[in-house]
Amino acid sequence: LFCYQCQETMAGSGCGRVGMCGKKPDVAAMQDLLIWVTKGLSAVATQLRREKKDIPERINHLVTANLYATVTNANFDKDVLASRISETLREKDSLLAMTEKKQELPEAASWTGTEADYEEKAAAVGVLATRDEDIRSFRELIVYGIKGLAAYLYHANALGSEDQDIDMFIQRALGQMLDDSLTGGNLLALVMETGRYGVRVMDLLDRANTGAYGNPQITSVKTGVGTRPAILVSGQDLRDLEMLLEQTQGTGVDVYTHGEMLPAQYYPKFRNYDNLIGNYGNAWWKQKEEFESFNGPVLVTGEGIIPPKDSYKDRLFTTGCAGYPGCVHIEADENGKKDFSALIELAKKCEAPKELESGEIVGGYGREQVFSLTDKIVEAVKSGEISKFIVMAGSDGRAKTRSYYTDFAKALPKDTVILTAGSAKYRYNKLDLGEINGLPRVLDAGQCSDTYSIVQIALKLKEAFGYENINQLPLVYNLAWHGQKDIVVLLALLYLDVKHIHLGPTMPAFLSANVANVLIKYFGIAGIKTVQEDIDAMLGGS
Ligand code: SF4
Repeated sequence: LFCYQCQETMAGSGCGRVGMCGKKPDVAAMQDLLIWVTKGLSAVATQLRREKKDIPERINHLVTANLYATVTNANFDKDVLASRISETLREKDSLLAMTEKKQELPEAASWTGTEADYEEKAAAVGVLATRDEDIRSFRELIVYGIKGLAAYLYHANALGSEDQDIDMFIQRALGQMLDDSLTGGNLLALVMETGRYGVRVMDLLDRANTGAYGNPQITSVKTGVGTRPAILVSGQDLRDLEMLLEQTQGTGVDVYTHGEMLPAQYYPKFRNYDNLIGNYGNAWWKQKEEFESFNGPVLVTGEGIIPPKDSYKDRLFTTGCAGYPGCVHIEADENGKKDFSALIELAKKCEAPKELESGEIVGGYGREQVFSLTDKIVEAVKSGEISKFIVMAGSDGRAKTRSYYTDFAKALPKDTVILTAGSAKYRYNKLDLGEINGLPRVLDAGQCSDTYSIVQIALKLKEAFGYENINQLPLVYNLAWHGQKDIVVLLALLYLDVKHIHLGPTMPAFLSANVANVLIKYFGIAGIKTVQEDIDAMLGGS
């Protein structure tokens, strides 16, 4: 096993014997091989497109789902991953038969095997198969960005939103990861292109979400519990939450959100369900205690699974690309419909959730909501009531050093406003940081993909202030990252020419010294230091 795709990687350099996330070597091997055969399928599909032949939509969806299944904490089920490899090989072989120029394709396009061959092949095609440290670093930066891209695309596809240009880019770029003739310069260009498509996929998902559920509005979400049995929904897939809410109507079963699902409650359509009671608990990594005390079934709709404790494993359900061996997986039918009756029946036999806290979280500061406040915000900046905006989007994680983000939020001057999205917010969204002119000092736009909303807000403010460049705004970035969705957000910001992003709690292990230097030189990316040093640096304008 070698994996260094997330922030929690062993000793900040790479997981070896077993993943810090709980990933075992056999699962890691299937993920490595799945990525490699998906690169092979992508190379064949891209070749066919060059030959002006059509690629069926199911191939696009297969590539997207394969990538998502290898995202950190998404799928721990070796059998599911192995069957994805088999399906990918089958589809690849049938496309290969249609190509005219087979000799121009890489080995992954022609390789085939049975399940008995998978472990041995996986050992030869993992991350370390690329010997040159800098080429490996560029390749993995691109692949992890593409995994994040695919995860966002998967959620958009679930709402019927398609963008074949994104699919074509993903497959072209994956195929190019097998091309040893590409130089560092070629790969840097692909990094930027990944960022360009990152912007595009976040826009697609934003339009899919707001088209289906309305524009997020300022909302107060309860953190306490009711008295009825309930189902807890974690992950990111809003369509899954909608189907579950439909099916729980009139059953006496309530629904709560957990972790990254909290922002669903900011959408007007979800507020119409009176059995959507509130948000239970905190960010994904606190699930062992929180899923246990919740008492009812838990539905995981995306990445964010921690190997479950026996105390709640039999009430943990997965769907979409999430998976864990021994937990029931809810499949969609051919029309995308899912039957959640097993969870509902189980919930009826469970006790109501145990209360952890009793309060409110305020959020819903998506782009349209903030646009409606633009005059007020511009006035507050001009009058000196707001001195700076700090974008603190990203994802939370287990590292003890992440208390930095709580301390940073507390230590910021009272005339600053935090713009946030993603689970990073749980480090400070329950603090009483006060208001400026009726505006809370923490404005939560939503899930990590809603960093796109923050970018739109920045562009709107740039226009309102008459600036030429968003780097002229009184706005700085102190991002927390954990997984691959955060990587595509980072690349999207770099593509938009955002400079001087601080990234923490540690720099990605997959950035070699030379590749990190490229990002430092061209974009001024920096890590984090102490709270005071960073506040001085960010608010002092350096
Ligand atoms: Fe380690 Fe993260 Fe990879 Fe898991 S996903 S094996 S924690 S680097």
